[in-house]
Amino acid sequence: MEQRRIHKTSLRGPRPNLDDYDATVARFSWAEAERLLDGLPDGGGVNIAYEAVDRHLKHGRGDKVAICWLGKSGERRELSYAELARQSNQFANALEGLGVQPGERVFVLMGRLPELYVALLGSLKARCVVTPLFSAFGPEPIATRAEMGDARVLVTTPGLYERKVKGLRERLQGLQHVIVVGETSAGGDGVHLWDALMTPASPDYTIAPTDRESMSLLHFTSGTTGRPKGAVHVHGAVLAHAVTGRYALDLHENDVFWCTADPGWVTGTSYGIIAPLVCGVTNVVVEAEFDAQTWYDVLQRERVSVWYTAPTAIRMMMKLGAEAVKAHDMPALRFMASVGEPLNPEAVVWGLEAFGLPFHDNWWQTETGGIMVSNYASMDIKPGSMGKPLPGIVAAIVRRNEGGGIEPVTNPDVDGELALQTPWPSMMRGYLHEDERYRKCFVDGWYLTGDLAHRDADGYYWFVGRADDVIKSAGHLIGPFEVESALMEHPAVAEVGVIGIPDPMVGEVVKAFVALKPGFEPDEALRRELLGHARKRLGAAVAPKEIDFRSNLPKTRSGKIMRRLLKARELGLPEGDLSTLESDEKK
Ligand code: AMP
Repeated sequence: MEQRRIHKTSLRGPRPNLDDYDATVARFSWAEAERLLDGLPDGGGVNIAYEAVDRHLKHGRGDKVAICWLGKSGERRELSYAELARQSNQFANALEGLGVQPGERVFVLMGRLPELYVALLGSLKARCVVTPLFSAFGPEPIATRAEMGDARVLVTTPGLYERKVKGLRERLQGLQHVIVVGETSAGGDGVHLWDALMTPASPDYTIAPTDRESMSLLHFTSGTTGRPKGAVHVHGAVLAHAVTGRYALDLHENDVFWCTADPGWVTGTSYGIIAPLVCGVTNVVVEAEFDAQTWYDVLQRERVSVWYTAPTAIRMMMKLGAEAVKAHDMPALRFMASVGEPLNPEAVVWGLEAFGLPFHDNWWQTETGGIMVSNYASMDIKPGSMGKPLPGIVAAIVRRNEGGGIEPVTNPDVDGELALQTPWPSMMRGYLHEDERYRKCFVDGWYLTGDLAHRDADGYYWFVGRADDVIKSAGHLIGPFEVESALMEHPAVAEVGVIGIPDPMVGEVVKAFVALKPGFEPDEALRRELLGHARKRLGAAVAPKEIDFRSNLPKTRSGKIMRRLLKARELGLPEGDLSTLESDEKK
């Protein structure tokens, strides 16, 4: 299958923005790409919300539909660029009315409601920093991130507030304002109703000069150890969104675009909000969770032309069969892309069978801020490959050497770590409050991604795996330490190690190995109690799906649980170097 090539001989739709990869790479410069942006008037710098919304009014796109929102219960709401400009202005004014200052953090915790989009863009206009949180997070991930990120404002819904946030108010002393979208009986404590703030707020707002290096978004991501990392992004990153929207997603002015990712994760913000709006297309937002029939209906009815989705969803659709797709008529659909986890070669080819189009895999991560490696509309696809680096991005396969430096792997098809030459516009500018952790990602002018990959003789990159212990489940990056910490809170738990177990549908499922304190019985009732405890603390997206009891867990001499060994044993893989193993598990 890997040898197969999908030739781009007959393309549907307009001529691709990137019609010749090699020629574009040769002539591309970020400085020249600046023409894709307007910049704030009078040399006022660059503000993401201005590029995404306000400037379109100047270019006669005010009446064009910016967001087409499809609600869970069949509602349909369209927000034109002009309406989005007005509402985001109102929100910026509302924030200023509350005394919220530029640089302060606005956290957003809600499902895919129109207000989420308004709040995010309005906050950027007010030069506040936005952190979107996944609404399926439990109280613990919310509290950790809000504490680390110094949340001053939270925008949420009444249900999420009652269930997940209210009980955290004591802990979150810095959280001064909670803006609730909908009716709530929760009063006082800095709780404001969305309508009460928005209705009196002026729809006019002038964005103050914004330094392109000023912080725009703070996206939390997970590492192997310790707490989540707050990746700092800046307003100037929008240049990468303008370029990748055009080159990697091939967005043209008349496209109807749908990114299925939730804005609680970086794809749902960079490509579910910023890139499509910056490119001035109509952005479809679907509130409901995945359901194949609903998705096909959306593709057909809304005449989606460019679709950006993810491997777990594609595999679920594959399971239901191509016939369900073929029962729909989707003549407008012309480009399909996928991101977030390895896309099986079979899935790329299945796209051809079911939709008459291949899926175009692309690769990036929270830290890169935008797509870095991609399959392009005009370029042949090798199913299973992530494609080639974006014009303007220099990638390499490297090995770390003993002296702390790196060496390039020049031979094709040899595994190493994927590295990107610094800088590029959407590169993270720091891990909030963690300089040392940030610095460790960079060696000799290269950013080390933590992903293992190889490049073939034609320059295509192939994903091999992660160099660390983080878990990818249904496209969501999960830090084992966060899960272990939540389980350790339970009085029965003495030790815990958390790993990802390969799963044909969601990539990996989270599994915990638990050693109990004396006096506790490893029975079914306790297993269920621990699963329930983790789910309540962490939320369904992060909690383990499986727990196994062990009398002891393998540890290094310094007392660190050896997840690598737990995983090797669970999967029947070679156990590797055991020289640091101190105590062992007795099964
Ligand atoms: P996140 O920061 O949550 O977006 O996760 C980024 C990680 O997801 C990457 O470092 C990869 O491990 C994985 N990933 C993203 N895109 C792909 C892809 N196309 N193929 C394989 N893995 C991917």
